[in-house]
Amino acid sequence: MRQGNCMAGAWTLGIESTAHTFSFGLVNEKGEPRPSSSDTLRPDKGGIHPREAADHHVELSALLLSKLLADNELDSTDIGAVSYSQGPGMGACLRTGAAAARSISTHLNVPLIGVNHCVAHIEIGREQSGCKDPILLYVSGGNTQVIARLDGRYRVLGETLDIGIGNMLDKFARNHGIPFPGGPVIEQKALEWLEDNPNASLEGLELPYAVHGMDLAFSGLMSAANKLVKEGKSFEAVCWSLQEHAFAACIEVAERALAHTGKTEILLGGGVACNQRLRTMSEIMCNERDASSHCPPRMYCIDNGTMIARLGWLEIKNGRTTLLKDSGIDQEMRTDETAVSWA
Ligand code: AMP
Ligand code: MG
Repeated sequence: MRQGNCMAGAWTLGIESTAHTFSFGLVNEKGEPRPSSSDTLRPDKGGIHPREAADHHVELSALLLSKLLADNELDSTDIGAVSYSQGPGMGACLRTGAAAARSISTHLNVPLIGVNHCVAHIEIGREQSGCKDPILLYVSGGNTQVIARLDGRYRVLGETLDIGIGNMLDKFARNHGIPFPGGPVIEQKALEWLEDNPNASLEGLELPYAVHGMDLAFSGLMSAANKLVKEGKSFEAVCWSLQEHAFAACIEVAERALAHTGKTEILLGGGVACNQRLRTMSEIMCNERDASSHCPPRMYCIDNGTMIARLGWLEIKNGRTTLLKDSGIDQEMRTDETAVSWA
């Protein structure tokens, strides 16, 4: 049975495939989101190999799309446009999503739109939290950026100079035998440490503080954390210290961005924004300066097809579509490459 008040062909399908997650999502004719149908490759050992992730995406695509349509009581004729992550990301992974998008849009004879993954994180966050003109703290596996909308673009005011914060957490965890994704386990270990040590102090657990002007760096922090464990400090204690240092650095740059731009809202996005300690730190900082901190539900923090559908819907509403000949991918796509024409 079809969903009530929606015309056939009114839904925008979104396809996410920038890294380890393959995901389909939907928004309706008003741009209202529905939860995604997703699967994430989790290698038992080592990091993510782009080729293996791409194979995973291709293998699961039919199943995930069927599930999404079934969950929403829709069929393929309800899809009126197809949006996909054009970049940034791993080439082999991005190509699987672009190929799926091209074939679905051609088969259904509906418009195609390639969108910027980072901008999609911002737009689903704005839609979900109702904030208007935030500073985005985008903290994911591969990216760490502080972003603000200025002169019709989302501008990167500061970013990591080496690896993404999520990558850093995953690599530190992997070094200690914890498989991907390590971030949630580190959060758990840090909590356990705090429960056992309610008056925990950073004394003896100091790590380098990685703020460089408006930019950040995480690889030195990770090496120093590994060294502390090697020297005999408890792993749980180092997890706690690592979070405190890495998150404080991000929040400091975000706060400076608020001060420089005069904006009054912080929006968290990306997988690391699932972390409750980061959310709390952001709230404390915002409370201290009469600003507000916002974060979408966790299912829209991690990579998801719904955010791609939402941005595709916005772009199409504002008159942009992607021709088949231009529907390639762009591994290096920058957040400020995308003109932002919508309110
Ligand atoms: P993304 O790249 O946006 O899909 O997010 C994936 C990243 O988020 C991985 O590096 C995860 O380790 C990280 N992550 C997910 N949940 C948490 C959490 N609760 N705390 C810290 N990092 C997390
Ligand atoms: Mg992401």
